Amino acid sequence: MAFSLPKRLGLADRAASARTDRGVMARTLMYPFAIGGTVALVAAGGAAPHELLRLAASAAVCWAAAALLLAAYDALPEWAFTFLCAVGTGLLLWTAYSDGTAGQAVAPLLAVPAAYGMFFLRKAEAGAVAALASGGYAAAALLGPGLPVGVVVVTAVGIAAAAALVGMQRANANRLIWRLSDAAVTDALTGLLNRRGFQELIETELERARRSGQPLSLIIGDLDHFKALNDRFGHGAGDRALEQLALILDTAKRRIDTAARIGGEEFAVVLPDSDHHAAYILAERMRREVRETFMYEPYELTISLGVATFPAHGTSVEALVAQADEALYAAKALGRDRTMVYSDDLEDSVPAELSVSRRHADRNSSTVIALADVVASRDRGTSAHSQAVGRYSAAIARALGLPEAVVERVRFSGIVRDIGKIAIPDAILRKPGWLSAEDWIAMRRHPEIGASILAGAEMEDVSEWVLSHHERPDGTGYPQGLSGTDIPLEARILAVADAYEAMTSDRVYRAALSAEDARAELVRCAGTQFDQRVVEAFIRVLDEQSEPGRLRLVT
Ligand code: GH3
Ligand code: MG
Ligand code: MG
Repeated sequence: MAFSLPKRLGLADRAASARTDRGVMARTLMYPFAIGGTVALVAAGGAAPHELLRLAASAAVCWAAAALLLAAYDALPEWAFTFLCAVGTGLLLWTAYSDGTAGQAVAPLLAVPAAYGMFFLRKAEAGAVAALASGGYAAAALLGPGLPVGVVVVTAVGIAAAAALVGMQRANANRLIWRLSDAAVTDALTGLLNRRGFQELIETELERARRSGQPLSLIIGDLDHFKALNDRFGHGAGDRALEQLALILDTAKRRIDTAARIGGEEFAVVLPDSDHHAAYILAERMRREVRETFMYEPYELTISLGVATFPAHGTSVEALVAQADEALYAAKALGRDRTMVYSDDLEDSVPAELSVSRRHADRNSSTVIALADVVASRDRGTSAHSQAVGRYSAAIARALGLPEAVVERVRFSGIVRDIGKIAIPDAILRKPGWLSAEDWIAMRRHPEIGASILAGAEMEDVSEWVLSHHERPDGTGYPQGLSGTDIPLEARILAVADAYEAMTSDRVYRAALSAEDARAELVRCAGTQFDQRVVEAFIRVLDEQSEPGRLRLVT
């Protein structure tokens, strides 16, 4: 490292160097030597001939030491500082010994190397220098001019005390520095690493993974609808939830993993030596823990998680964070309370208008999805069915050759098609037996209610499809009794996807049909309840899907 002369003299850029910086050590020692050399030179001017040689020698040694410190500066090895301290002390002791009573004037100066040692050197060296200064003085003063013991002891103790004081001050400063540097990387609320600590840690871990050739996984989690919890129960409750969450993450992780709070309600876990399977399993465990812990609180709280792994998904810290973040975002878009692992076709599983980018995300879409999710959980206890309908719908739309943008809109419609059920009371929605005539009237209003919610969210296309997703080509559907191609194609797609998903899953009132039976039922009702073309397209999709290695549709 190159240091300018003003810097070496300590005249520039003081704050930049750390306390134990070799440069600082050199500079601090350089000045006492320079001053000592000058004083010796001045004293030599009026000195008796027998003292002249000693003073000249002292001055020469002092100036040589100062010059060495200035020239070598931070390149000096650590022992050189101890050595120079001892040399300075030796010169002072020499004066105290041989200069009679006048030489005693240097006694207080012995505190300088002793204190310097205490501040800059290791404990053992510091102790040795202090002992040399204090004990050496006692010996020199007693053996040289033969001062009274009492006077000598007081001075020697004074030198030792000055050194000890500096030593204690240094220990204090060290403790403070530790506390501050610790605080700089720790989150005060949860005790986990903060964002800065996380950044430092993942950089180190990634470097280690690179060297060892082991994978490294990153989980990023963000609490779901946390703002709502704060709004309803206050920030105090929010903070307590964050503390609880930190504890869950810290307990669930392995010892070698590290959890961090990287944002207000965003957390990260760094998993050395773990591929994305291991990370997924851990993330899911954490998610379950969160769900189960808060189940008994006045508020339910869930977390969405994204996983990315080095080197499969990215090789830099930035890429890993961005991809875990993208996976997390997909988890949010798909209805929250889930873990997603990053993959290149992640965007395929997220409604297009949500995945384009976070910045351009249509806020209405996520609100609508969230709402549909609430309805789905009320209706069936989970949103998995809606997502399956979304996937089937998208697959049919694609098989029918619709443009990709429309395919994604259709997927979105599949997920939110039943959003209108929000207006249907639980007594009807969750009724285990057959519905009465009045119940049916209420139930059959859901396409219209859904359509008006979606129109309000400025999604006219989706609104229209949802309105018609219970219409039938034979004209016996609802709410408008449209028939044939008067029903939008997208709505006919939704009807088939919805029916297939309903037939193949268990309901309260009947067990699931097998895939073959459900297919047969679709074919049987093609042309009356279902659109012929749509059913054919779906059958093609199901056929392709049952080929080995093409099992992407059904999860
Ligand atoms: P989602 O992530 O599911 O999209 O919804 P959200 O409500 O969590 O959305 P968002 O990430 O935008 O909101 C973050 C909220 O977290 C905002 C703020 O109310 C809350 N929050 C952030 N930091 C703290 C904190 O330190 N203490 C408390 N109590 N709340 C915090
Ligand atoms: Mg957030
Ligand atoms: Mg959140």
